[in-house]
Amino acid sequence: MSRRGILIGRFQPPHLGHVEVIKQILEEVDELIICIGSAQLSHTLHDPFTAGERMLMMTKALAEAGVDLSKVHIVPVPDVNNNAIWVSHVLSFAPPFTTVYSGNPLVKRLFMERGFEVKSPPLLKREEYRGTEIRKRMVEGGDWRSLVPKAVAEVMDEIKAVERLKDLSKTDYPLE
Ligand code: NAD
Repeated sequence: MSRRGILIGRFQPPHLGHVEVIKQILEEVDELIICIGSAQLSHTLHDPFTAGERMLMMTKALAEAGVDLSKVHIVPVPDVNNNAIWVSHVLSFAPPFTTVYSGNPLVKRLFMERGFEVKSPPLLKREEYRGTEIRKRMVEGGDWRSLVPKAVAEVMDEIKAVERLKDLSKTDYPLE
């Protein structure tokens, strides 16, 4: 039987830390499910990219990193308004798996309580390799490209991501 793991995240956007962690996890398991969480969210400063855009970024980033895509399954999962049933909800979307990889304390707790093996991948350059930092630099005109795979930057350019984030940061209220 294949050893199958799942990595759950919002991936807003996928960055170099995610790609490195995915490569490390694939040394431990035969196949990895990448669950794109909060799949229903897009076009906010916290969650600017659609599930489809994040899937595109992730697939291209992994291909660029030389990851064997036949070992990776990308599944979008929308949130539910009830943490107690969220694990069942994820199970209803994802291929079967035994091991959950997450650094998120809530995700870890919910799966642990349902009897899953839960592992925390190491956090790499957490001050820089963070969605919040990347989105902030995109709005403020800083260097965000060095924090994401080249393939992710190309999708960002294709979808005019900087323009989108800058628009989302505006307000129609006059300054007081
Ligand atoms: P994220 O994109 O911030 O992180 C994804 C994973 O990558 C995490 O495990 C994180 O530890 C890891 N990571 C991040 N930066 C890293 C770095 N620099 N180096 C190495 N690893 C790094 O996503 P998240 O916030 O953990 O996503 C959890 C998802 O689960 C969200 O979409 C959330 O809404 C969903 N969720 C939903 C419910 C519900 O619907 N009731 C409940 C719990 C969780």
